[in-house]
Amino acid sequence: MNCRESRQHWNLYHDSEKDAGLHFRIGEHLAVCPQCAEWFQQQSRLEYMLVENIAVRRPTAELWDRVLAQTQLLKPVPARRWFLFSFSGALACAAGILIAIVLLRHAFPSQPISDLTAITTTFHHRLAGGDEPLQFRSRSDLEVDNYLLWKTWSMQLTN
Ligand SMILES: [Zn+2]
Repeated sequence: MNCRESRQHWNLYHDSEKDAGLHFRIGEHLAVCPQCAEWFQQQSRLEYMLVENIAVRRPTAELWDRVLAQTQLLKPVPARRWFLFSFSGALACAAGILIAIVLLRHAFPSQPISDLTAITTTFHHRLAGGDEPLQFRSRSDLEVDNYLLWKTWSMQLTN
C-alpha cells in the first residue's frame, strides 16, 4: 500500500470500519512510513478535538439565532424596530387597562370607584375559575386592543 491509498482510507482506519485486511495493510504502511504515521496521528487528534468540542458545547438560544440569521432563515431585527415594538406594546397595554376599567365601570355601575380593585380581582377570579365566559382570546396585542375598542364602542352605542 502506498501513501495516497493509506491516507485515502484514513477515516475507515480511524473508525475501525471496513475489513480487517485493509486495517492490517494500513497498519503495515504506517509502521514503515513516518510521514503517514504522523499524518494519521494529526488527523486523529483533530477528529478527537472536534468530537470533544461538539459534545461539550450545547447550543444556546443566541447561537441558534445567529445560525438562523446567517442562513437567512431568520432575519435579524434591527434595534429600532424592537424599540417601536416595545413602545407600541406598552401603549396597547395602557389602552387595554383603560378600556378594562371602562368596561368594569360599565359592568358594575353601582359600585363606588374605591371598590375597583376588589371588582377587578373578583372578575379575574371568576375568569380564572371558569365562572365567567372568556369573551375573547388572542396572543396578539393588536387583536386584543381592537377587540376591547370594538367592545367599548358597541357598549357606548347601546347606551
Ligand atoms: Zn506513507
